[in-house]
Amino acid sequence: MSLMYTIKKVLDPLAAREEEARRRRQRESVPDQNGDDHRFRCRVCGFVSDQWEYCPHCLADTMNQVPP
Ligand SMILES: [Zn+2]
Repeated sequence: MSLMYTIKKVLDPLAAREEEARRRRQRESVPDQNGDDHRFRCRVCGFVSDQWEYCPHCLADTMNQVPP
């Protein structure tokens, strides 16, 4: 936390709160990788891929479709 941010928060609490919310949104937003909605995640290791047959890490049929 920078000193400037602290001063800004004291002087202008509304703007600081908006900035904080904006930062939180950026942090939580998941980058849209390629716009493809057919994505699958391994339920064991969490590996995300566009193939559903098997997880290349676990070498098993553990892929579940990721909801859009
Ligand atoms: Zn896996």
